[in-house]
Amino acid sequence: MAVLGIESTAHTASVGIVDDGARVLGLASSMHRPTHGGIHPREAANHHVDVLPGLVAQALEQARLAPRELDAVAFAQGPGLGPCLRAGATVARMLSLAWRRPLVPVNHCVAHVEIARALSGLNDPILLYASGGNTQVIAYARGRYRVLGETLDVGIGNFLDKLWIGFGGKFPGGPELEKEALTGRELHPLPYSVHGMDVSFSGMLTATLALWAHGAPRADLAYSVEVTAYAMLTEITERALAHHRGAAVVLGGGVACNERLRGMVRAMVEGRGGTMFAPPRALCVDNGAMIAWTGLLAHGVGLSVPVGGSAVEPRQRTDRVATPWRARATGAPVPADRAP
Ligand code: AMP
Ligand code: MG
Repeated sequence: MAVLGIESTAHTASVGIVDDGARVLGLASSMHRPTHGGIHPREAANHHVDVLPGLVAQALEQARLAPRELDAVAFAQGPGLGPCLRAGATVARMLSLAWRRPLVPVNHCVAHVEIARALSGLNDPILLYASGGNTQVIAYARGRYRVLGETLDVGIGNFLDKLWIGFGGKFPGGPELEKEALTGRELHPLPYSVHGMDVSFSGMLTATLALWAHGAPRADLAYSVEVTAYAMLTEITERALAHHRGAAVVLGGGVACNERLRGMVRAMVEGRGGTMFAPPRALCVDNGAMIAWTGLLAHGVGLSVPVGGSAVEPRQRTDRVATPWRARATGAPVPADRAP
């Protein structure tokens, strides 16, 4: 079996093709990089419309497959930026109609968990999902993936990007801050905002930009922000772990490419006798392969939608989405009130 998946929730347009062994047969991506400021949804969507047809062709070529050899077309239904989601969904609908293949909607956050589960072989991990727009701790319980904790304001990546732009840099800021932080020495105290299982970053953004305006060195600020923000994420992940059966954590999202974050979470998990897994970079960031893989799982249990019922859901919540393949895999019954 092979499924093609389309990702277009934010700045990245990506097409992946995977088989039923979770092997990535093809993966072609293009990231919209604004010339100044942050992401404008309409501009990103225009970028996706321009590049998606070429990415589909590239992914097919890499996979050495003809469309008739595909079993389904999956797309990211949400959460994400409306115009960007619609660009990907439109291409997916068109391919599904032209190739006469089932159209399978996929929740983007669930896709980050599923690809990490498949690659790691960990059956029931907690996901620390640290991306541009999302920051969540997710675990499976009673038929659904549940958000145990999350940001109360901006996503960690958006926070890092805003900070870097405030320092005079360009989007995306996370990787630049990571380099800058390597030479930081002085740890400035910054607002550490953990509220139970939730976190917030806007106070830290204001405080750091104020220190910058007063002449604090950029490297020290980058270092202080990384240490403080990643400690917050590590803390809520640890609290989730303490309440969850098993002791495995997987990472997902662009910020999960960060070596300091990986190291901090790994030290915490291994200190508790558990296992931490971070997918390779190409599958940690937004990518079509994770959508294809989750689409393949969903297709395997007969989930698909007619084109007329395939509207995107920019605010789709992880815990509103049925994951019947998961219930079967673990033998956990789906409670009647939560069945799709
Ligand atoms: P995503 O939304 O998952 O595609 O991830 C994009 C976000 O990840 C952007 O906000 C980037 O600044 C951030 N990012 C990418 N690489 C790194 C890194 N090495 N360290 C911190 N943030 C990163
Ligand atoms: Mg993502």
